[in-house]
Amino acid sequence: MKIVDLRSDTVTKPTPAMWEAMAHAELGDDVYGEDPTVNRLEAMSAEYMGKEAALFVTSGTQGNLVALLTHCGRGDEVILGDKSHTFVYEQGGMAALGGIVPHIIPNRPDGTLRLADITAAIRPDNMHFPRTRLICLENTHNNCNGTPLTAGYTAQVAELARAHGLWFHIDGARIFNAAVALDVDVRELVRHVDSVTFCLSKGLCAPVGSVLCGPSDFIAEARRARKILGGGMRQAGILAAAGIVALEQLAGRLAEDHIRARRLAAGLATIPGLEIAPVSTNILYFSLANDVPLTPQEFVARLKERNVLVLAHGGRSLRAVTHYWIGDEDIEQALAAVRGVLVRMKN
Ligand SMILES: *Cc1c(COP(=O)(O)O)cnc(C)c1O
Repeated sequence: MKIVDLRSDTVTKPTPAMWEAMAHAELGDDVYGEDPTVNRLEAMSAEYMGKEAALFVTSGTQGNLVALLTHCGRGDEVILGDKSHTFVYEQGGMAALGGIVPHIIPNRPDGTLRLADITAAIRPDNMHFPRTRLICLENTHNNCNGTPLTAGYTAQVAELARAHGLWFHIDGARIFNAAVALDVDVRELVRHVDSVTFCLSKGLCAPVGSVLCGPSDFIAEARRARKILGGGMRQAGILAAAGIVALEQLAGRLAEDHIRARRLAAGLATIPGLEIAPVSTNILYFSLANDVPLTPQEFVARLKERNVLVLAHGGRSLRAVTHYWIGDEDIEQALAAVRGVLVRMKN
């Protein structure tokens, strides 16, 4: 029986078209700026995001760190959400490697930050304070049920940033999921931001890589930051080739993943013992009711015996993420497995 791997959309392996593109990619030394495939991916990415330039980076974590190192100097402060990936899951790289101070404010359940909280976090000009330099948002917001942030909200934050002379970066690891969920062109979601990172290696199925987009002078500096982090790759076109296929063929099909995530949520909602969080993209959080006599780790292990993988996510919470390699029959297999585990508990 097939393993239905719902832990993350990062588990996606390349599509046949990607393997084909990688096998025949035209290559050069990208540190010399001579890899035509990387150059093409960067030009396409800039175009997709409506920005002047782009930089192919090894990962979303590297893209965010490069952006932060480029926008901020040592002792500068960044305003970001307390549930954001950059604050929670990136080892505090901004502080560890950049001397940049994270100033966190609470994420609301929809992934937004209150405008009043942002304003209150901006430091006045005073010798005692670090200098506020940057605001970061995340779209879609992974830890907030994968919720997309709207173009309208993003524009409001951009206005605030501009009024205070701050840079504005978006961690758009899954920004194409946001665009699909909101039914807008992805450019609308980043029109007023200075920089954005998006991942090729999640729902877009590429094996490796993210792209940082922004103004040309910013990207030129970001290229230096990438190099000092060890991200200057050589014949990286072999990876960029898959990224090009990702943009051309995968970005447009994400709605299918959202439909399957909703179908999975609807199915799980019929099974006693589970509480289901709202689903708006491809990420579904659910939790075990208190009367289910299983830890999340035990639940995950029993599902695994039935060839279904989900992620324990702290507390009683679990995560399932749909992606390219999850079809309708896999959703059925997952539901049958969950039913099997929980119904057996009852008896
Ligand atoms: C996955 C993810 C990242 C980091 O990407 P990696 O390629 O795993 O380093 C950053 N931000 C968000 C919101 C993510 O989901």
